[in-house]
Amino acid sequence: MGNRILLVEDEKNIARFIELELRHEGFDVVHHISGRGGFEAAKSLEFDVVLLDVMLPELNGIEVCRRIRSFSQIPILLITARDAVMDRVAGLDAGADDYIVKPFAIEELLARIRSVLRRTSKVTEETSVLEFKKITIDTTAHRVEVSQIGIDLTKTEYDLLVYLIQQKNRVVTRDLILENVWGYLADIETNVVDVYIRHLRSKLPQEAASYIETVRGVGYVMRE
Ligand code: CA
Repeated sequence: MGNRILLVEDEKNIARFIELELRHEGFDVVHHISGRGGFEAAKSLEFDVVLLDVMLPELNGIEVCRRIRSFSQIPILLITARDAVMDRVAGLDAGADDYIVKPFAIEELLARIRSVLRRTSKVTEETSVLEFKKITIDTTAHRVEVSQIGIDLTKTEYDLLVYLIQQKNRVVTRDLILENVWGYLADIETNVVDVYIRHLRSKLPQEAASYIETVRGVGYVMRE
């Protein structure tokens, strides 16, 4: 398999445990204990997934996430404390794709990692162009254009837009979006979907942003 994972975690026992388990599953793991070290390592662009603890000395995980997003769309999974709901929202706002709450079962972590990797490889396997009004998506090149102008989206924003366009004229619920874009339904707050819809709209030009309609109390739709 050989996917490379960058693990940034300052608690040595937890890090050692995660590293052993991931290696056992065939992943290559590079571990850093500080946010700064992790950020510097991420610049090498040699990784497939970043696993990022939020509570780190010096530079916290949310800041590291924001900085990585300034140059890379690599999938980022945040590791947050049990009751740190604010961290999760801030992390998603900073561009993280998903988060996992401590303490977690290793199987859950593996499922989350496989889910983001599957989403990455699924996109590269398809070879078609999706069109919706002024939006054109080249799913081979992973490129989104609105009126021939390129739009830079994170992995999750991109998957969300592709899904909404594939489901055009159908109202899709938040649960359906979670299941199809995030790949699972387990214990994730549905407001994650709303956060990502907001990100997506903010990155699209005004007219294209208005294509994504909110259906109050139900979900979202893109109508032709
Ligand atoms: Ca920590």
